[in-house]
Amino acid sequence: MRVCTLLLGLSLSMPGLALTSAQYLPSDAELDPAIPTPESVLGWEVGDWRVSHDQLVRYMEALAAASDRISIKTIGYSHEGRPLLQLIFTQPENHGRLEALRLQHLRSAYGDDDGSAPLVLWLGHSIHGDEASGSNAALLSAYYLAASRSDFVTELLKDSIILFDPSLNPDGLNHFASWSNSNRSLHPVADRRHRIHHQAWPGGRGNHYWFDLNRDWLPLVHPESRARVAEYHRWLPQVLTDQHERSSDGYFFQPGVPSRQHPLTPPENLELTQALAQFHARAMDAAGETYFTEDDYDDFYFGKGSTYPDINGSIGILFEQPRISGPEMERDTGLLTFVNAIQNHLRTTLSTLHGAHELRASLKDYQRGFFRTMSERAREAGFAAWVVGDDGDPARATTFLDLLERHQVSFAALDREVRAGGQLFSPGHAWVLPAKQRQFGLLQALMETRTEFQDDTFYDVSAWTQPLAYNLPFARLERLPQTTDGQSSAVPSAPDPEALAWIVPWRQLQAPAVLQSLLAFGARVRAATRPFTATTRNGDLAFGRGTLVVHAGLQDPGLASRALEVLAKAAADGVEVASAVSSLTPDGPDLGGLKFRLVKPVRPLLIVGQGVSSYEAGDAWHHFDQRLGYSPVMVEMHRLDGIRLPDFTHLVMVDGDYRLLAEPLKQRMALWVREGGTLITSGRASDWAEALCFKALPEDCPAGTEKPERDPPATRAHEDFSDDLPQRVIGGAIVATALDLTHPLAYGYSRPGLPLFRRGATLLSPSGNAYSTPLHYAQQPLLAGFIGQQRQDEIRGQPALIAERQGAGLVVRFANNPLFRGFWRGTERLFDNALYMGQVVSATELPE
Ligand SMILES: [Zn+2]
Repeated sequence: MRVCTLLLGLSLSMPGLALTSAQYLPSDAELDPAIPTPESVLGWEVGDWRVSHDQLVRYMEALAAASDRISIKTIGYSHEGRPLLQLIFTQPENHGRLEALRLQHLRSAYGDDDGSAPLVLWLGHSIHGDEASGSNAALLSAYYLAASRSDFVTELLKDSIILFDPSLNPDGLNHFASWSNSNRSLHPVADRRHRIHHQAWPGGRGNHYWFDLNRDWLPLVHPESRARVAEYHRWLPQVLTDQHERSSDGYFFQPGVPSRQHPLTPPENLELTQALAQFHARAMDAAGETYFTEDDYDDFYFGKGSTYPDINGSIGILFEQPRISGPEMERDTGLLTFVNAIQNHLRTTLSTLHGAHELRASLKDYQRGFFRTMSERAREAGFAAWVVGDDGDPARATTFLDLLERHQVSFAALDREVRAGGQLFSPGHAWVLPAKQRQFGLLQALMETRTEFQDDTFYDVSAWTQPLAYNLPFARLERLPQTTDGQSSAVPSAPDPEALAWIVPWRQLQAPAVLQSLLAFGARVRAATRPFTATTRNGDLAFGRGTLVVHAGLQDPGLASRALEVLAKAAADGVEVASAVSSLTPDGPDLGGLKFRLVKPVRPLLIVGQGVSSYEAGDAWHHFDQRLGYSPVMVEMHRLDGIRLPDFTHLVMVDGDYRLLAEPLKQRMALWVREGGTLITSGRASDWAEALCFKALPEDCPAGTEKPERDPPATRAHEDFSDDLPQRVIGGAIVATALDLTHPLAYGYSRPGLPLFRRGATLLSPSGNAYSTPLHYAQQPLLAGFIGQQRQDEIRGQPALIAERQGAGLVVRFANNPLFRGFWRGTERLFDNALYMGQVVSATELPE
């Protein structure tokens, strides 16, 4: 038996495709033999396999245990419960007084410098989990910082505190490591068509919910970002690195395109980025590696890891290594190996350390200067503060204020009524965000509505104005109004067990989750289709459309008390629940009438898989799971054939390419709608849904759609293409819309102007029914960001959302994703209404 094992036990390890740690590291690095190498802990050499997250953690813990240069802690957990590690490298004497050093550094950063504060650096790796060379290189750079006895490392650790995050996205890293390792052959296949180079949907780029964490530094939707940004502000590093892989050839490091740096970032940031780039260039030149700067990438959207630092007094640096999935891959520039990818990121980590150490005086000066510049800008801003109202929904406002707090922005409660920007802001329902504060730069980035740009090309979105995202009224104030630290918003009273009915206003952020918890156990809940005033324990109160009414007497035996439990818990969490004492109302319909419509439980199916946008499918999954409190049944597009549609009440189709859905399935879907199903689509799924035919007889369906004829374009120079393209691309901007507040899809809204996030070019074909378009783009659509003139002209007055009855069912078409990146909280109610209030949409056919 033993002999067989020896003969047949060919390991999948591949000597020659990996290197020892010593081979990776600079030749002058005399290494302390007491410090464990990655290969001694992992059992294989770096580059041989993609490191899984638990292996990465195991090595970092072993390293920390063996080295007196390291402190290690867990700063949070990913959605899947993986630890978010932070290692701190500095000389041994410093570890006992890290807190004192941190405070000394912050004092220095904020202007009180005695010259002895440490340099603080942050090394971050592989926020895109399938761009794994960063985290694999992190094994080596961590080992180097712990083991090297070189003069350089000794000096570096004496002068610096290095915060080291080996994996910014543990769930994605692990997901991808499983894919890459489980598809790796003993003999590597460099052919790009091979399976290993094409991850299965949705890939390991995102986190658990398929979100791009490198867009979440500003919205902070996810635990990974929240923990990281809290540590970021605790330490306020002078430099932060962000290692990625890109789909094309050529190693990139910042600066990106200089004209595409955000105008709020001080120009000196670019100068220091350029100074650091000299160090990367020297290291890459010495290795004979090619690279580029000042192209492709920018520093505009502050929600990215290399840009967020730029508006917080640090220098963020992006590194992009050509992507590789297996051990080897054929690229246009020749054979790329994983070892080579790791070497490149290791090189620029070391060049960052060298550069930052050499430039430490300038980096510290820059950081102090940054906060000085921001306070000068606040003084010269021409206004004293922003005021933000709660829009009658304290929970939405609280969520927004929580975001401000996480970004260290200070605010106070308004203490006296003010009128600004044509709106009235009242104490208890509004907050003041003063310009005069340390975080003025970031605050401005969160609040501004910029529509003029030096350059019209954007790597990501061109606007993210937070009060527009949260749909909260806001305005600038010329003078600072009276404020108070105390918060006067009243705690909602508990529902009265003896009440005839309990009433939950639908305008509240948490109302859909409350409704879902009630429907989940079979409670009968009705929704108001007209405004009304009810007589309650707290007097006569007015309620809007969509308000939920739970009659105790309408519930099946035993269920009224369960409903009361759910509502009492909701009230304890801040949800307003009123207790009605009579069905007779002083104003509007009586509670027992037909204007209150039963809301039936929903059972949605979310289509996922190849062809579907994983980001938008993730937005929907996350919304259901994290905010509504249940998960849809998720089915890959290619499995739909075997699914019985009548088992579901809703089909959700987010942006994607659905052309592969076969004709018989489309007919089944149309029949399912006619018989009462609700189809919810957005983006390209809405285009696709327009071709569905809901006629009972196939011969009544049109044979095909005719393409409108287009005039050939005027001839332009080939080079003009790059200038013309941004005019046609909507990378992401904020547009104004007009909402029909009487439509069930608008229930819960109280103001007709709803800011919407617009991305892509989907235009909805107008409805043939006059009552089916609850949302139109405004005549002057652009609120913030960039949209080319022709694209603005195209959407003026056009439908943004259409909800049409088809037989007993409903088709809800969104031109844009109402759940954008989980932070566009202002439009998520449209989606929830499509789920719950779509049932209330009446047939609106006028007789001929
Ligand atoms: Zn990336």
